[in-house]
Amino acid sequence: MKKTLLLLSLVAAPALAGEGKWTPQQVLELDPAWLKAQGLQVPPERLWDPKRGTGLLAGAVNVGGCTGAFISETGLVITNHHCVFSVIQEHSTPQRDLITQGFLAKNREEELPGKGSRIQVPRSFTDVTKEMFAVVPAGADDLTRQKALERKEKELVAECEKRPATRCRVAGFDGGVQFVLIDSVELTDVRLVYAPPRAVGEYGGEEDNWMWPRHTGDFSIIRAYSAPDGSSAKYSPQNVPYKAEFFFPLATEGVKPDDFVMVLGYPGTTFRALLADDMAERQARYYPRVVDVYGELIRILEEEGEKDAAGKIAVASGLKGLHNRYKNAGGQLAGLKRGRIVEKQREAEAAVAAWAETRKEYAGALKARTELLSLQAEKAKTFEREFLLDMLKMGAKGPSLAVTLARLAQERAKPDLERRPEYMERELPRLKDRLEREQKNFFAPADKRMFLALVRRAQSLGEGERIAAIDKHFGRKYVEKQVSAKLNALYARSKVMDLAERLKMAGETEAQLRARKDPLLDLGLDLAAEVVALDELRDRRAGANVRLMPEWRRAVMAHAGKPVAPDANSTLRVTFAKVKGYAPRDGAFYTPQTTLSGVMEKHTGQEPFDVPGKVAAAAEAKKYGPWVDERLKDVPVNFLADADTTGGNSGSPTVNGKGQLVGVNFDRVWENVANDFGYNPDVARNVNVDVRYVLWLLDQVEDADGLLRELGVRKAASAQESR
Ligand code: ASP
Repeated sequence: MKKTLLLLSLVAAPALAGEGKWTPQQVLELDPAWLKAQGLQVPPERLWDPKRGTGLLAGAVNVGGCTGAFISETGLVITNHHCVFSVIQEHSTPQRDLITQGFLAKNREEELPGKGSRIQVPRSFTDVTKEMFAVVPAGADDLTRQKALERKEKELVAECEKRPATRCRVAGFDGGVQFVLIDSVELTDVRLVYAPPRAVGEYGGEEDNWMWPRHTGDFSIIRAYSAPDGSSAKYSPQNVPYKAEFFFPLATEGVKPDDFVMVLGYPGTTFRALLADDMAERQARYYPRVVDVYGELIRILEEEGEKDAAGKIAVASGLKGLHNRYKNAGGQLAGLKRGRIVEKQREAEAAVAAWAETRKEYAGALKARTELLSLQAEKAKTFEREFLLDMLKMGAKGPSLAVTLARLAQERAKPDLERRPEYMERELPRLKDRLEREQKNFFAPADKRMFLALVRRAQSLGEGERIAAIDKHFGRKYVEKQVSAKLNALYARSKVMDLAERLKMAGETEAQLRARKDPLLDLGLDLAAEVVALDELRDRRAGANVRLMPEWRRAVMAHAGKPVAPDANSTLRVTFAKVKGYAPRDGAFYTPQTTLSGVMEKHTGQEPFDVPGKVAAAAEAKKYGPWVDERLKDVPVNFLADADTTGGNSGSPTVNGKGQLVGVNFDRVWENVANDFGYNPDVARNVNVDVRYVLWLLDQVEDADGLLRELGVRKAASAQESR
């Protein structure tokens, strides 16, 4: 990007070494001498070549909400176990339970294709900020502004996606300070190669999730395929392994404390640019509500899953996601309080405001801040209703699928560029995958109880916040027996949960859907009207935000006087870090590495600390092979670093200064969950699987010879062993 090149003369070191999820372009703005001193051994231009708009960073790929990394020339990608869990679930039955047993493909024919699995490999990044703002009519109101920007975004994406097998997106940074068009190759033939047993991949379960010390083998290996000519293609037995331009060779020597590492990936969403009042609202209402509602849904799924083996498999993936977000919300609350994050943001904001007061050119920034504050106060008034409406769209499958079908029919009636982005033609294959895949996650008794819980909550909303569709179909007052009877009748008379019928519905018009007189669909159509109104309200808010936020952020950045990494937005970033322990509380210090002996120490034989027999046997026999760490005299399992990560960084490659893989990021520590709102160097620690644990499992436990050879470590392994 030209703009970036001009900034080369402004190279600077960030305030705190570990802080910052840097964009590929920003890496070139950081002082190369500083990067070298940190431990980067390759020239920064190897990470990112501004002329080509690509580089080693592009070896980190987007795996549907997670990150993965190419680790061979033959399309092998390493990611987290929890990122491919739904594929493992898809191929599991009570008779062949891959979730419990794990899976290793002995050869390519045995690899398991995942329904709807996709990998995006970034190809180029282009600054389109000017083009975006050029389309906003002078004097436009907030809704018009947002619609104009959305339209331009669709056009840019459509143009970009004319190239076959291409997936594009326009990403906004910090509320619209910058817009970047990202062009990626999309690979759609993705197959499962290896998954450890759940008791390894998820060792410690929810008890250890977001915690340290940790002993979890949260990794899996998948493979991307292409047509024989190298182009992206749908699943076909004729396909061949995808040849990645950039990949990360495995660093069999691993890491030790104080080593330099980088974490590359697609961090999802962070909130550091929010005004303090906005943060305070999330602290006061949003996270407590997540704890409350998700907690209830978790109880329901657990109770119902216990009653039925197939039901337990069906709810497994949903339950895992709920648990993760539930515990995360608790961590956000604890961290916000302990780190005084809102208070600190208030102080920082006041300092910027005082600085701007004395500079005429930032008068607009101060006005923008005042308006942002009043928008926030307005939004807070309908928080409960919006939260529940969102839950109805994604909680129980019944209402969620019914609303989706209703909205799909309504949007499909419009020309493509006028539809809401999520219903455009380019999204329909994904949507169809979801409509199909959800069947695997559906377990009627659990679904009905979840829906019932949401209805009860909706019926207790205050006067100004009612959800009309719920009132209409279930009455205004919660009387359990009556609501439950209505709900049972709804499911009994509906065809929405019948896969074949549902797929037919997905092709029908709104009139056809109405003519079916399917009661769940009718409810979905009523809910859809409220969803549409809420979407419009949110568009208006987004239009205001993009008008105001960039003004304010420009003042914040000018005041900082050094590079400021933008908030995460699911785009490619890199963070520079060191392997490091930390003090979780007064009087305690955590060392940064755990070992196989530690795995066995936690073993109780009961979930979630039930080490599989073959793993326990190799560990107890101290069958370590060449994967021992000299200092630890043990096989290293997990390690900590002070990388600046968040959700979406799951599966990110953690690489050394030479660009070799030393680990796979999978979590943050409890004290660091609230880093989404602010980086605290004392506790900012991410959790990684040590590459030597991966290799130990493949080598000493699974005898995955072929795979190790492909990874280029087989020869090294046996040579060292015979020494
Ligand atoms: N374990 C996390 C996740 O589920 C990764 C993180 O948030 O650091 O996305």
